[in-house]
Amino acid sequence: MLSVTFLGTSAARPTVERNVSGLALVREGETLLFECGEGTQRQMMRYGVSFALSDIFFTHFHADHFLGVIGLIRTLGLQARAEPMRFYGPKGAKKILEQALKLGVERVPFEVAVTEVKGGDVIRETGNGKRETYDIHVFATEHGGGSVGYALKEHERRGRFDVEKARAAGIPEGPLWGKLSKGETIELVDGRKLTAESFVGPKRSGRLIVITGDTRPCASVVDAAQGADLLIHEATFGEEEKERAKETGHSTAREAAQVAVAAKARRLVLSHVSARYSISAEELVKEAREVFPETTVAKDGMTIEVPFVD
Ligand SMILES: [Zn+2]
Ligand SMILES: [Zn+2]
Repeated sequence: MLSVTFLGTSAARPTVERNVSGLALVREGETLLFECGEGTQRQMMRYGVSFALSDIFFTHFHADHFLGVIGLIRTLGLQARAEPMRFYGPKGAKKILEQALKLGVERVPFEVAVTEVKGGDVIRETGNGKRETYDIHVFATEHGGGSVGYALKEHERRGRFDVEKARAAGIPEGPLWGKLSKGETIELVDGRKLTAESFVGPKRSGRLIVITGDTRPCASVVDAAQGADLLIHEATFGEEEKERAKETGHSTAREAAQVAVAAKARRLVLSHVSARYSISAEELVKEAREVFPETTVAKDGMTIEVPFVD
C-alpha cells in the first residue's frame, strides 16, 4: 500500500482552510515526511499521521517549508523518542536545521543526522532495512538557492506467476510454486527440471511518486517525473498572475499541467496554492485540466492512494 496525505497546501502563509507545506507519504507501514511547515505536527494529529517516522525531506528553506520542524522535534523528545532521525535538504540544510534543533531550552534527546543533497543524488537504503525496495531520487528545481524536489522510485517487481500454466504442467500447488515465482529452478518427483522463465511473466515496474516543492516549470522536473504514477506539482498562481509566477519562482496551474504532459505522468495533483484560492481552487483545476485532464487540487487532509498499474 502506498498513499500520500496532504498536511498543508497553502503557499507562503497559513489560511483558515489550509496550513503551510507538509506531506506524509506512507508506504508499507513506513511514514516519510516531505516539508514541515509551521503547524505540521498538529496537522499530523488531526489527519492520523504516525509520529513514528525517521526521515524528513526538505525542498528548500523558505519559512513556510520548515519552521514546523522546531516544534515537531520537541514533541518527539517529550514522547521519549530514542531512535535517531534523518533530515535531508539542499545546501544550507546543515546550518539551518542545526540551528532549528538548538532553538528552545530543552535538549533534543535523540540523534539527528542532517544530509545535504543536490540534484542527481540518490538516497538509498540507510540501514533501517525498510528502504530495500525503493530509492529517493533528488532532482534540481528552479526556485533559487539550490532548491530540490524528491522522487520516490520503487524497484522493479517480480513478474506475475502464471497459475494456469503451472497447473497445466502438473506442478503441485505449494512450495514449488513459491520457488518458481521467485525465479528458482525446480525439480519434480518425475525428474523433470523446470525453469522459472516459462511460468513467470516479465518484471513489472514499481511506482514513481514525484514531489516538486516550489519551482518554476523546468526540464529537470520533467525528467524526474517521466511516467510518474503521481506528480505533485506546486501551482501557486492562476493564469492571470503568470507574470508574478515568473517573478517569484513559482508555477501556474497550467504550467504544472504542461509539465505533467511532457512527463507523461498518470496523475497530477496541484498544491501550494496562493491564499486567494484557499476556499476554492476550482479555477486552478479548470485551467490545468484544459492541458492535462487527470488533474486535481490538493486540500488539507486529502489522502490519495497510489495503486500498482499491473
Ligand atoms: Zn513556499
Ligand atoms: Zn519557496
